[in-house]
Amino acid sequence: MKSLIAVCLLFFSLIFPSRAAQVCAGNVCAIVPDAVAAFDGERAYRDLVKQCEFGPRVPGARAHEQCAEWLAGQLRQSADSVVTQKFTVKVRGKTLRLTNIIATFNPKGKGSALLCAHWDTRPRAEKDPDPSRRASPIPGANDGASGVAVLLEVARVLKLHPPGRKVTIVLFDGEDWGTELPDMLLGSRYFAAHYRGERPEFAILLDMVGDKNLRIPQEAQSLRRAPEVVRRMWAAAERVCSTAFVRERGPLLMDDHIPLLNRGIRCIDVIDFTYPYWHTTADTPDKCSPDSLAQVGRAVLEMVR
Ligand SMILES: [Zn+2]
Repeated sequence: MKSLIAVCLLFFSLIFPSRAAQVCAGNVCAIVPDAVAAFDGERAYRDLVKQCEFGPRVPGARAHEQCAEWLAGQLRQSADSVVTQKFTVKVRGKTLRLTNIIATFNPKGKGSALLCAHWDTRPRAEKDPDPSRRASPIPGANDGASGVAVLLEVARVLKLHPPGRKVTIVLFDGEDWGTELPDMLLGSRYFAAHYRGERPEFAILLDMVGDKNLRIPQEAQSLRRAPEVVRRMWAAAERVCSTAFVRERGPLLMDDHIPLLNRGIRCIDVIDFTYPYWHTTADTPDKCSPDSLAQVGRAVLEMVR
């Protein structure tokens, strides 16, 4: 059987010498287009580490400012255009200066897709097992940096293999600042309220997608309000053997997809919420893996190509 598979792979690679490649997750392998296989999990992982090296990306901190500049600079190397959407929000008597970063690819393409993740990190580790650390900011390797790292690498692949449709990547600020709903999702709410473009065919939010033990069920709000996008996303994941996507109903979450759904944009939340280090000071890069980032990145590329 193994030799038969090898012969098939050889035959396929002879017919399509530069247009397809094999990718594997565990024991499961698939032949996928280069526009999908080009996603480099190791490079995405380096971008996850790089974000953490700035320090916690808490609004108002120097690391927050420096990371925003770096992210915009990275996207400028790949996208047709990059704009920063700067705004201030007053919450609990404090004025926050926030920045959404918006990158566009193939603006004249037929149809459009929106990809998003939050790039800020939480100012307090309230779930830390050690009470003395609960006032400290989180490093945000998975909660923040993972979704952004996937999208930076997706951006590089889109430059090499331009998509047929218009693709917009938005990195939201201020997702994780607050403790109550009115203090959360600040960037996505601002973006949704000021959104004037055509309604994208679909939108995908990535949040906490770097966990070494990645397992992504179908988030309940996404299933209820954008079932067709969930169906397409999980079918795409299966085609590129991203085995972390499981066909199970997940929890109902308040995340950046909600302001977009409320604005009529069919957005799903791709998230593994069973992360033991969530909102703790132990949310560090060693809890994440290149393979997890690659599984998500390849599924996203299969959706947008
Ligand atoms: Zn969070």
